[in-house]
This record gives sequence, C-alpha cells and structure tokens, in this order.
Amino acid sequence: MNKIKTCILLILLLLSCSSPTLNKEVSDHFDGKKFFNPDFPNMSKSIFTLLKWKLTSKAANWPKTVNIDQQLIKNKKVSLNKLSVTFINHATVLLQIDGLNILTDPIWSDRTSPVSFVGPKRVKKPGVKFDNIPKIDVILISHNHYDHMDIPTLERFINRDSPIVLAGLGSSHYFQDKYKSKVLELDWSEDYFFKGLRFTFLPSKHWSKRTAFDENKCLWGAFAIEGSKKIYFAGDTGYADHFKNAAKTFESFYLSLIPIGAYEPRWFMKDAHMNPEEAIKAHLDLKSKYSLGIHHGTFQLTDEGINRPIEELKKAKEKYGVGDEFFVLENGASRDF
Ligand code: ZN
Ligand code: ZN
Repeated sequence: MNKIKTCILLILLLLSCSSPTLNKEVSDHFDGKKFFNPDFPNMSKSIFTLLKWKLTSKAANWPKTVNIDQQLIKNKKVSLNKLSVTFINHATVLLQIDGLNILTDPIWSDRTSPVSFVGPKRVKKPGVKFDNIPKIDVILISHNHYDHMDIPTLERFINRDSPIVLAGLGSSHYFQDKYKSKVLELDWSEDYFFKGLRFTFLPSKHWSKRTAFDENKCLWGAFAIEGSKKIYFAGDTGYADHFKNAAKTFESFYLSLIPIGAYEPRWFMKDAHMNPEEAIKAHLDLKSKYSLGIHHGTFQLTDEGINRPIEELKKAKEKYGVGDEFFVLENGASRDF
C-alpha cells in the first residue's frame, strides 16, 4: 500500500507545474537557470533511481503514533544574554535569544506533502501547540522541500505575527501572492540585520524540488545567527567542507542545530543527508560548544527505524569522545543556556 501511495504522490508531483523565475547573474553556484553545489555539481537523482529505492527498499516499521506531552511555552520569558532552545519537531526549533523569538523550518501540518491525503504522516504531535507559540519575530527557511517549507504553517505565522521570513533565492514563488513580499530571499553569504542580530545564509550540500519542473530553481542553505551567542542552523545537508568553512568565517558556534535522521539507504541518501556519525563530525568541524540533533522522530522519510538516529548518535559520540554537549530533545522539551 505504501508503494502505491508513493507512486500516486509521484504522479501528483509530476502533474503540478510551477517554477520560480530567477533574475540572477551566473555565479559559482548558479548556471543561469539552476543552482548547484560547486563541489558536487551532479547530485541530481533521476526518477528511475528514486523508483529503484522505493521499489527495492526495506523500510523499518514505524509506530503509527507516539504520544508526547505538548508543552506550554507562550509566556516563557528569556532574559537578555540568555538562550533557550525548544525542539518542536523535525527541523522546527524555537530559539529565544536576546529578546527575540526565532523559528526554524516550522511545520505544524500533518503530512510533508503537496496534498493532505497522501505522503509521510506525522507520528508525533508538534511539541508545542501552534497557539501556544509566542509571537515570532524571525522565521528561517533552509530550503523548499515539503518537510522544511510548509506553506500552510508559514502563512499562518505570517498572518498571526507578521514575522521576517528569511529564505534562499526563489523561495517567495511558493507563497500566495499576498504573502510573497513578506519573504526576504538571500543568496549564499548575504546577510540580514534585525534588532541587533545578524542572520547570514550559508552554503549547504543539498538540493531543492517541489514539482517536476522546479528542480534546483530555489536556493538551499544553512544559517548563522550572531547575537549574544552564535548559532548555526544546518537545515538539510550531506557532509562536506562547508562546516569547516563556516567555522573559518565565524570562528566557532555556541549552539548548532544539526540533522541526524533520514539517512538510509546510504547509497541513495548520503549525498544530501548526514548520518549521526557525520553529524558528530559536523559538530566538531563547526567548533560548536553544544549541538542539538534535529530532523528525526516525527516523519518517516527514509528507511531507518524511528529510534535508530538516537541509537547511532550514542555510538558515534562514544567513538569521537563527544559527551552531553551533543544532545537530543523530545518534541516540546527545552534547554536553557
Ligand atoms: Zn531536503
Ligand atoms: Zn528534510
């Protein structure tokens, strides 16, 4: 049944036609029509490779639901020079720093899909109900995949809080016309200053696609946030030198949000998604004092079991001599610094 559903989803993706128009000069990561990873220009996988994975995969069985206690964050105050990090779900993290509330890749939808009736369905609720999230000042979007750029959630936040939405070039295309101007598009290395914080969009090793006609027409990336503490949000990424390069530019980070899930089978996923061992290497490359593992436990996107990322992370931490500074949080749990 899952394979039939996947095929229906693929056909729907093929039928939906839409693609951003880009007025950008050719650069080391843009060929005039599409973006690419300068060190890995041929990362694209054909529909046949995708079908090969889907038709030959032995995906672990995930539970249909995992209960969690949703937390109440709305009135939580974080004093100046303090940082509070709350893991909401998947790549959605609430960062409260220097009086600002920042959300990364917010998703409150039930599925990561262009349609509401098919596609990966959540097994855990968001750790905080939408209405219990405090007023959001800034939203960071790493790229346009459905599990990161959840348009219904983003438009709800724009309506409610009118936040600054920062995303890669080509991203505003996906929003309704009335919301397009709310999305500020950044190229790699471009920055944006807001109330004393600096947000810089940085390279990652990934790609973008939402329909059959928009592959790599929207830029993907990571973010550095510089306030009283420096924070790195990795988005979705394969392991590569961009972590070391970020540490060269920013010297070090206090906290990094690093993906540890959606990595099996390696033959298909390695280019664009790290496994827990690579996440540890990224943490070390970034010279990060603390790191939070994200992108696991809520949606089954790939073949590994629901608890594998945390089990593999534990082993990788032992192998590299990393302790509690690389941690994971249950949906809704916070850590204060
Ligand atoms: Zn992605
Ligand atoms: Zn993802």
